[in-house]
Amino acid sequence: MDKIKMITPIVELDGDEMTRILWQWIKDELILPYVDLKTEYYDLSLPNREATKDQVTVDAAEAIKKYGVGVKCATITPNKQRVEEYGLSQMWRSPNGTVRAILDGTIFREPILVKGIKPIIPTWTNPIIVARHAYGDVYRGQEIKVEKGGLAEIVVKYKDREEVKKVFDFTASDGVFQGTYNLDASIADYARCCFRYGLEKKQDVWFSTKDTISKIYDHRFKDIFQEIYDNEFKDEFQKAGITYFYTLIDDAVSRVIRSNGGYIWACKNYDGDVMSDMVATAFGSLAMMTSVLVSPDGKYEYEAAHGTVTRHYYKYLKGETTSTNSVATIFAWTGALRKRGELDGLKDLVAFADALEKACLTTIESGLVTGDLYVIFDNPDVTPKKLSSREFLDAIKNTLDGNLVK
Ligand code: NAP
Ligand code: MG
Repeated sequence: MDKIKMITPIVELDGDEMTRILWQWIKDELILPYVDLKTEYYDLSLPNREATKDQVTVDAAEAIKKYGVGVKCATITPNKQRVEEYGLSQMWRSPNGTVRAILDGTIFREPILVKGIKPIIPTWTNPIIVARHAYGDVYRGQEIKVEKGGLAEIVVKYKDREEVKKVFDFTASDGVFQGTYNLDASIADYARCCFRYGLEKKQDVWFSTKDTISKIYDHRFKDIFQEIYDNEFKDEFQKAGITYFYTLIDDAVSRVIRSNGGYIWACKNYDGDVMSDMVATAFGSLAMMTSVLVSPDGKYEYEAAHGTVTRHYYKYLKGETTSTNSVATIFAWTGALRKRGELDGLKDLVAFADALEKACLTTIESGLVTGDLYVIFDNPDVTPKKLSSREFLDAIKNTLDGNLVK
């Protein structure tokens, strides 16, 4: 079989630990035999971030800006223990944070649904994609621990005037006080990312805030979403047969639980942080969750939602057998290959991405799974078999080859 040709390179961001091992295996077994792969490679492993003073992360993000599509392996975000473990000169920032800041993007987390792995909520038959506005609010707020007797006010100073509001007079007790902010431009860009992704996935977009209580702050989010929708997306949404729906966060939560899935739920920063973990957990496995960073001007970075699976890596280093699930990392690759195929008009590449995803799903459905899925596998007609990390990839390759021959 001739290998599938590519035109534009995908920006490849390699990473750390167990996922770095899987990364190489996935490329060698599942991609390179079929695709004449073109990538621009950036090694974001912690040792190379240290060696380049983290310049490699900035360069990789700039490359995604240039080419439009990237795929990223999980990377270590260093903490104090990692600084010692790797002898780092400083505690480098989260690579995801750096890339997100440069692309100014929004992260959409999407579960991979497969027969045999049942969501905890039985009605969730379609994926729920959760979007998080990754800017501002409590994540960039300021806080003060207030002593009894303090008067808390908020003040906004302009060149020629100031606006002051009393928040609370702490006459009876000590307490706490917090100031947060957001920017119209950031909210508008977030709205654009969500609407663009809705069009791309042909799915309704829901947005929720607490505007009944926060009548200025959260209401501003609601108004900006509506303005952007009305002015820039309404016609396209109508043509695509999808809708935009705003509702109070409380109402959204109860609707989500009762829904069948199949929409994008856009959240404010904190809500998205918490709700994405809740939705991910309720869908079954962290290892079956992908994430894509979409910038307002339509650049894409695909990755698995999980980390570098450190515990498995230490076992691997000791020569022990691991059973690490590679599906989310494979889907990061297929996401990037499909997007590249669509942008460059390469039907074969798109079809290959579809075929590889299907091979992953049918392999799991047939009961050939890794340990994380083995313990939650739930299909009375199939007896699951727990495979090692490597055997699982071999099984997917077998399925893929069988399907390609057909
Ligand atoms: P993790 O790597 O996601 O792993 C946590 C646990 O979840 C694992 O120990 C494993 O459970 C299970 N798990 C996760 N992915 C799995 C997979 N593919 N197959 C099977 N089991 C899987 O999170 P962590 O241990 O908290 O973080 C490890 C490192 O990853 C940290 O240095 C962190 O900074 C980094 N991280 C990176 C990203 C990113 O790059 N996007 C995201 C999160 C964390 P068992 O051990 O019980 O089998
Ligand atoms: Mg969280």
